[in-house]
Amino acid sequence: DQNSFKDPVLARGLIKSIQTLAPEHATLMEVCGTHTVAIARNGIRDLMPEGCKLASGPGCPVCVTANRDIDAVIALARVENVILTTFGDMTRVPGSSSSLLKEQAAGRDVRIVYSPLDALSIAQANPDRPVVFVGVGFETTTPLVAVAIKRAAALGLKNFSVYAAHKNMPGALDVLMGDSELKVDALILPGHVSTIIGIEPYRFLAEKYGIPGVITGFEPLDVLQGIAMLMRQLHEGRAEIENAYARGVMAEGNPVALAAIDDVFETCTATWRGLGPIEGSGYRIREQYAQFDALRRFEPEIEETREPRGCRCGDVLRGIMAPNECPLFRTVCSPENPVGPCMVSSEGSCAAYYRYY
Ligand code: SF4
Repeated sequence: DQNSFKDPVLARGLIKSIQTLAPEHATLMEVCGTHTVAIARNGIRDLMPEGCKLASGPGCPVCVTANRDIDAVIALARVENVILTTFGDMTRVPGSSSSLLKEQAAGRDVRIVYSPLDALSIAQANPDRPVVFVGVGFETTTPLVAVAIKRAAALGLKNFSVYAAHKNMPGALDVLMGDSELKVDALILPGHVSTIIGIEPYRFLAEKYGIPGVITGFEPLDVLQGIAMLMRQLHEGRAEIENAYARGVMAEGNPVALAAIDDVFETCTATWRGLGPIEGSGYRIREQYAQFDALRRFEPEIEETREPRGCRCGDVLRGIMAPNECPLFRTVCSPENPVGPCMVSSEGSCAAYYRYY
């Protein structure tokens, strides 16, 4: 019953627990962009007790994609005859000197798709044109891209390839929690990613850093419940990884999806916007599937990377700056005229603040 996710009586009870259990000072980080949007849309930031706050983390896949990757994708869109397929948000992210939207306006064939399997269909319908899919995202999208590549291999499709810029969350959290500038006391962990990876990959947060975490869903009550459970852990001086999303997450994750990822990808060092290179936090296509790796296939010439001037997305993604503290927020940077990806993406913190605060 969808309504039970919004039940006001339950909500009041949870808000009361949050207020009763909250320590004098605490910063809770919502790691995931979907949580950032849910928190903003439901006014949950304002419900936090005095001295406690919610900081946004690095969980917007488009936002953490490095400028170098954006430039590489733009270079691929310029390869002769290529049809470049991507999720919608990616087209508006500014690279060093262009964006996919500008490339499209200049006559390149850039198409928005909703799934990598749509890109596969486009490849089947255009056998004499190379079709490149831009693979960004966390473990929620990586298995789908793995399946698309496996299907292309099974079909013997020669004109389909992927620019793989997938990332995993635990590697980034390891770096963030070791960051001395950042003071996070507890983590709200994403339900949908955890559906795939399970609980185990987060345990080190509690064990190595003594930071409690709760995996939770995206309905208002899920988020409140997650915050209440974190406050209880802080209150009791515990640091554990708890699961408030039992309807979606099993301890071992989704073995079928994990096997698909492992079959097609191997982990590598990935560069995150704001966080820099992180060992083991990215996925690259295995040698066995090299023919489906757009970068190896086309070796495009990528322009020299320049970061957007004045944009503080890096600090926003590290949780050390709130979007409205960026000097460009609202003055220069808006969803109509985004300077950085955090204002472009529907899951970006800057866009969420712009819309709801
Ligand atoms: Fe970058 Fe704009 Fe966000 Fe500032 S408000 S950090 S310029 S995206």
